[in-house]
Amino acid sequence: MAADGNSNVNAYAMALEQLDEAASHLDLKRGIVEVLRRPKRELTVNFPVLMDNGDVRVFTGYRVHHSTVPGPSKGGIRYHPSVDLDEIRAMAMWMTWKCAVVSIPYGGAKGGVVVDPRELSERELERLTRRYATEISPLMSPEGDIPAPDVNTNPKIMAWIMDTYSMHRGYTTPAVVTGKPVEIGGSLGRLMATGRGVAFCVARVLERLGMPVEGARVAVQGFGNVGSATAAHLHELGCRVIGVTDIYGGAFNGDGLDVPGLGEWVRGTGSVKDFPGSEPISNAELLALECDVLVPAALEGQITADNADAVRAKVIVEGANGPTTPAADRILVDRGVVLVPDILANAGGVTVSYFEWVQGLQFLFWEEDEINSKLERIMGRSFAEVWRMAEEKNVSLRLSALMLAVQRVHDATLIRGIYP
Ligand code: NAD
Repeated sequence: MAADGNSNVNAYAMALEQLDEAASHLDLKRGIVEVLRRPKRELTVNFPVLMDNGDVRVFTGYRVHHSTVPGPSKGGIRYHPSVDLDEIRAMAMWMTWKCAVVSIPYGGAKGGVVVDPRELSERELERLTRRYATEISPLMSPEGDIPAPDVNTNPKIMAWIMDTYSMHRGYTTPAVVTGKPVEIGGSLGRLMATGRGVAFCVARVLERLGMPVEGARVAVQGFGNVGSATAAHLHELGCRVIGVTDIYGGAFNGDGLDVPGLGEWVRGTGSVKDFPGSEPISNAELLALECDVLVPAALEGQITADNADAVRAKVIVEGANGPTTPAADRILVDRGVVLVPDILANAGGVTVSYFEWVQGLQFLFWEEDEINSKLERIMGRSFAEVWRMAEEKNVSLRLSALMLAVQRVHDATLIRGIYP
């Protein structure tokens, strides 16, 4: 199936196309590639939630483990009306590659519920979360599978999941989930970690290309956890964030937006729309902005064969998972656009989640400086490895990152052997 065409992008078809491309450049055992092409296990749950008006509504949720070869499986939980099994399968596979790119001992997982959380009250959201956590608890544990936040989920939702799991066990189990509030065993630095890592990659790629970081013009699609933290860190690094969009609208200022002020505005209004001192900008206009760096940090399937030609950024650094389809990738490579792929660029989140898990298992907590410097060390080493492989093999950074990751998970699978 052609994995393209924006609204009908099939993320799993994209993920398989990427895996097959990477495998075709590597000398792998065919049977092991077949193992890697499929999720290890998938759970679909249909569960009732009592609504505030007394009605009962049935929701559908998923939890998918792509691989548990490198270690326990790890991956976020997404609440979105367009969640489906193929999307969760793709995200779980990308998590396996991401953890392998940064050499963190996890396999990939992902979960999601088909819901628009904006339609739920806070009490309904809590009941939905606690019931979903209960339904997926056969797959979830500190030793086996550790969820985290993703689109439309946040530290408060992680706290409910941790509390629900702990109630069932009869004792507090902080390491069952990451991205929790710091007050209950969350890690310092986790909230900003994905954005910190994305901004780090922006700086590294600009340096490699001989382009100044100071004053670089950046456009950011999405202003949630990843987009807002990326914009904040880029602003600190001296970049000019000239445009941002979210689901409601966008804000543009060619001289650079006041990013701290924008953060305040979003906390107050819930959107970047109508930010004082900015002009409105649509999502399509943002993706086509004349700028140095474009950071897609919203959803998958945003840059497709239909709009890749319109992209005028010199560099793309993927904050979101899967924002660029394989067909768009080919167009961008042909046009000389340098793209730092999701499985490297947004790996800061899972890296600090790993630190959070280690701290939770030990009940021993680290200073924020220590966390940020460990994060930068891992991101720096991984960026250099991906860059070196791309140069050596004369391939794109996406292919290089995928080749590194797939080779590592393939080798680990072979070394463990096929049971029994
Ligand atoms: P979020 O829910 O906090 O924010 C999503 C943002 O995207 C919101 O601002 C929303 O308004 C915006 N958005 C949604 N649809 C849009 C559209 N069609 N056009 C423009 N903006 C749109 O989610 P998040 O956690 O920031 O995740 C964003 C992306 O980053 C996802 O692909 C996610 O899988 C990926 N990611 C997240 C993390 C993490 O730590 N949270 C880590 C790695 C990757």
